[in-house]
Amino acid sequence: MKAGIWEGGGTISCGEVEQPQPGAGELLVEIAYCGVCGTDLHILDGKFDVGPPPQVLGHEASGVVVAGGPETDPELIGRAVGLNPIGPCGVCVWCRAGHPTHCRNPYYSASAYAEYALYRPQQLFPLPAGVSLPGAALLEPWATALRAAEAARLRAGENVLVIGGGSLGLLVASAARVLGAATVTVSEPRRRNRELALARGATAAVDSAEADLAALAAATGELRGFDVVFEVAGATAALEQAPALLRRGGRLVVLGVFGAEVTVPVAPTQLTDRELTILGSFGGGGSFGRAASLLSAVDAASLVTAVEPLAGIAELFGRIRAGEEIKGMIQPGRGESVGAQQA
Ligand SMILES: [Zn+2]
Ligand SMILES: [Zn+2]
Repeated sequence: MKAGIWEGGGTISCGEVEQPQPGAGELLVEIAYCGVCGTDLHILDGKFDVGPPPQVLGHEASGVVVAGGPETDPELIGRAVGLNPIGPCGVCVWCRAGHPTHCRNPYYSASAYAEYALYRPQQLFPLPAGVSLPGAALLEPWATALRAAEAARLRAGENVLVIGGGSLGLLVASAARVLGAATVTVSEPRRRNRELALARGATAAVDSAEADLAALAAATGELRGFDVVFEVAGATAALEQAPALLRRGGRLVVLGVFGAEVTVPVAPTQLTDRELTILGSFGGGGSFGRAASLLSAVDAASLVTAVEPLAGIAELFGRIRAGEEIKGMIQPGRGESVGAQQA
């Protein structure tokens, strides 16, 4: 079958690999769409470790179950699904403690730039009515965004700042609105992304290259500061500034990908005197089920700016790297006809 293969270095290309065969407990999914994630670029750049190349990448997928190995439910065959790339084992100490993100023995399915990929039943989320297969491929980043907002214990009526208006930042802004934020400000250098943020429901979008975020924070709400700030840009200077933009008792959520060598100074008195909370969030974890049921709130149509076949993967990555696309997707194999039926 055809697949998008990272051969090492900074490029990915379309090639041939053996089609996977489902073993016990595994399901074969015909991939309809697979979103290109900023993390994929970080993998190519050596900033995010997933083991050595060559590897088929791709972790933001939707598709249709076409076959099952022994010990799988035949009723799952034919089902259109959004997919969690991480299948927690459910029995390890972390899973039993309610922290599936930290599962010691997870089943990984991060090879969805391909015509087919293997998954376990706990990774499948049936599509709610009205959600298309391209929309369902946004389940993973949407779950990531929703989980970050849930981790911040975002409450209705709060004022939110999202630093970084790439596709994940825009989804974080949507999650904040879904949870009832009164205002959502997106700070982002690209004009097209700022315009899209506003079209998707952000209440303000400012140019991060020019905006005085400190002045903006001081003018925000009765408490003079944002209730919650999300750092989604992976920008060190922004992260350094972020605690000062919070009101007393505010929460900073770090989602951006930083190199392991990056450190940021934090004044402990910020945390004690002002009672700030700084927390990190990674992936969709236990929020996938809620994210699936809220998928229609994502408005995939406005976010997805490019859909390419596997043969165009190198070129699509180039355009995304150049900042020309907001959300790009690969549509492998027969996905076109499957997607058209579902749309
Ligand atoms: Zn991703
Ligand atoms: Zn586990």
